[in-house]
Amino acid sequence: MTARLLIRSGTLVAPGEMQRLDLEAAGSQIVAIGPGLTETGATVLDAAGLKVLPGFIDVHVHGGGGHSFFGGDARAVRDYSEWVPRHGVTSFLVSTAGRDADEIAGRLVGLAPGLEHDAGAEPLGFHLEGPFINPMRRGAFDAASLRAPSTGEFLRWHEAAGGRIRQMTIAPELPGALEVIGSAVAEGVVPAMGHSDATVAEARVGFGAGVCHVTHLFNAMRPIHQREGGAIAAALLEPQVSCELICDGAHVAPEMLRLAYRLLGPERAIVVTDNLPLAGTGEVSGRFAGGGIAVRGAAAVRPDGTIAGSVATMDEHFRNAMRFMEIDVVTAAKLCSANPARLAGVAGRKGRIEPGFDADLVLVDPGDRVVVTICRGRVAFCAEPGRLSPAR
Ligand SMILES: [Zn+2]
Repeated sequence: MTARLLIRSGTLVAPGEMQRLDLEAAGSQIVAIGPGLTETGATVLDAAGLKVLPGFIDVHVHGGGGHSFFGGDARAVRDYSEWVPRHGVTSFLVSTAGRDADEIAGRLVGLAPGLEHDAGAEPLGFHLEGPFINPMRRGAFDAASLRAPSTGEFLRWHEAAGGRIRQMTIAPELPGALEVIGSAVAEGVVPAMGHSDATVAEARVGFGAGVCHVTHLFNAMRPIHQREGGAIAAALLEPQVSCELICDGAHVAPEMLRLAYRLLGPERAIVVTDNLPLAGTGEVSGRFAGGGIAVRGAAAVRPDGTIAGSVATMDEHFRNAMRFMEIDVVTAAKLCSANPARLAGVAGRKGRIEPGFDADLVLVDPGDRVVVTICRGRVAFCAEPGRLSPAR
């Protein structure tokens, strides 16, 4: 029999309205929304006093809770899937990289079986961060791991991943990059500009070739200059391009996030964590790309001060997004769910609370802290078990 879940009396956060309604899921999908739904045969979740949002979707994350996507073990993806719902995440892209072409292929082959895991947050495919990126803007990546753009290598990795690369970060100004971008588009992979020193003109050529997204806007890019706005200005002014924003308060200053949001608006901004495996562990030091890292505030930094990634979890990013960008909860839900759903190619089944959509939901208290997370119709995290009554 199909398991049913009735969420009673929560305040549903949907575009244009916030309403106290019941929601019913059967199997993995939302089947009904309305007042006074019947509970026969359903597990009941009392959501009184809670807001019900579409589950968060993180399209740029390298791990968390000690689980790392920088190895080649599918168990890391499975364990992360079951760990991350406590932070409101219900689906994600596995973001990885490697030291050389063989290591990248090996990691993708090794991690790929983890994408089929059906408990907890749903892995939606891979985000390959690099290696066709500009050495001038490599951030925490090892210089030796960067490669000249090669369509052959890209296709080899895509095959190694079982055709599951969804997003690839690339610097469009590198020789050969436009050809790789073209073949990414042909394969249904989103070419994302990032770790790039592109000028406005070079960025626009990239957009013309198919770049439609920007990896962590502001970070690892040529800064805006009054006579050369670079990739940042070009992206902010390009209406079809979406941009990732790391909202941990450490990667990008709150004022810069607010400035970017004013230009991006509610459709083009996507909140990402860029979390390292260290995120959510409470540990203050670890290793990344062969070197040591130390946690400083919400970010992990290398000994030279370069930021290696964030340790602030998605629920913190969600709260920060509202505060830093001065947006309401409905808009923040778009930036954390509907917009990344579009990027990940799942806008037809995720990112909205609607019958027929996946029952991926996060329930938060008045302080916007995660109380319950539901992944594909199943309770994956519950901080207050007293709210649950088993099916009768
Ligand atoms: Zn990253």
